[in-house]
Amino acid sequence: MTLPAHTVEALPASPGSTARAHLLNGDSVARYRAALADGVDRVARRVAGAERPFTGITPDALAPQIAGIDLDRPLGDAGAALDELDDVYLRDAVWFHHPRYLAHLNCPVVIPALLGEAVLTAVNSSLDTWDQSAGATLIERRLIDWTATRIGFGPAADGIFTSGGSQSNLQALLLAREEACRSASTWDARRELLPRLRVITSAAGHFSVQKSAKLLGLAPDAVITVETDPQRRMVPAAVQREIARCRRDGLVVMAVVATAGTTDFGSIDPLAEIAAICATAGAWLHVDAAYGCGLLVSPTRRHLLDGIERADSVTIDYHKSFFQPVSSSAVLVRDGAVLRHATYHADYLNPARMVEQRIPNQVDKSLQTTRRFDALKLWLTLRVMGPDALGALFDEVVDRAAGAWELVSEDPRFEVVTRSSLSTVVFRYLPTGPGRELADAANLYAREALAASGAALVAGTTVDGRHFLKFTLLNPETTLDDVGHVLELIAEHASRYVRERTTAADLTCQVG
Ligand SMILES: *Cc1c(COP(=O)(O)O)cnc(C)c1O
Repeated sequence: MTLPAHTVEALPASPGSTARAHLLNGDSVARYRAALADGVDRVARRVAGAERPFTGITPDALAPQIAGIDLDRPLGDAGAALDELDDVYLRDAVWFHHPRYLAHLNCPVVIPALLGEAVLTAVNSSLDTWDQSAGATLIERRLIDWTATRIGFGPAADGIFTSGGSQSNLQALLLAREEACRSASTWDARRELLPRLRVITSAAGHFSVQKSAKLLGLAPDAVITVETDPQRRMVPAAVQREIARCRRDGLVVMAVVATAGTTDFGSIDPLAEIAAICATAGAWLHVDAAYGCGLLVSPTRRHLLDGIERADSVTIDYHKSFFQPVSSSAVLVRDGAVLRHATYHADYLNPARMVEQRIPNQVDKSLQTTRRFDALKLWLTLRVMGPDALGALFDEVVDRAAGAWELVSEDPRFEVVTRSSLSTVVFRYLPTGPGRELADAANLYAREALAASGAALVAGTTVDGRHFLKFTLLNPETTLDDVGHVLELIAEHASRYVRERTTAADLTCQVG
């Protein structure tokens, strides 16, 4: 609806005029400063006061509170909204900075990155085109080049920041698919080739590989998962075997996905051996280093990634082992020219003449259009702390995980899976005597009981069909005392579960 100018002036108290005070501009910086300072202060108090990583709140307890908030009736004031938010979110949030948060690949975050987050979201650059991001584009490019150099790629390398490892893997596999389809110049040829494309990964690889294959229109059985060795690393001979089998069956290996840091086991596939196999077979090698990428800055363990420089594409999750807040990830390619498979020109945004005018333009390389300046977080982190300091933090958690593994392996109450190259420990409580068959249920129970108490959070997974528990250590503040304490709690919960079940069974037997 358009109103004549005099009508607008006659309505000074319209919702629009008060709304305008909430827009960030030169007139509202005082409000901006106050609101953010208040928000930061509330978070700081919760961070400082978190005695446990979690309160144990259940969805059933929290859902009615959130459902009860009338989104059509604003509180009008940031302070009031923060009070409410404290009730429905901050008080019961899961705190990754707590030393007994040991569950998933969530890191405590470094303050320079939080500063970056505050800056990038206020400036709100969008990294699609230069005219929406100016210097930000160049900063992102410097960080891509820096990461590529750390990987050991040559000057032709390129890449792009993404929302996370899943998106990085998807984009890498999109590029691999397009490279595999280069010979199929007609739609008929492509339609004939697509169902024959295969991706080889290991049984310990990430599920986003399967998801990507589905999104890319590959056959339902396109992902071949080969076996791992006892250290849960991909077996190179198995890769070779599957490549040969595909050839025999008229199938085309579009990509081999090696994992540098499997999510569960922290194992690193033998990258150099797999790279050699891929080179011989002419197969695209993607290295999923979403977890292991922290080794790129490790002062002592960079060699664990040897061979990564022979990949065609690499996934990096700065938000896992570079202590960055979500989201911060990148996909890197050895030959930047392949990024053209993600390029489309829109007249309104990135007409081809921009390329001729040499105006840098990130949307040509990305699956996203409007895109956050996540790179700024890493930039400020490197400018304040530097790479060695980040790598030292990651080294510390890897050392701690080795200590934790020893602790668990020396404890007769637990069974532990192979030692991780990174920072996970996969283990389970083993009941002895009667109740042995309750091991799966007891471990499931212990994990849930621990979470409900909020005293610690651990993850769960299955190994060869059995329920196991998992520590993921990403917090240098976690001590071996913390680990020992959590093990005691797990043993208490699990043994109580077994005791109650076996006593009940005894009683039933006696009564029967
Ligand atoms: C976490 C992870 C991913 C997915 O990354 P997101 O950032 O969660 O999307 C992919 N691969 C591996 C090995 C991971 O550990």
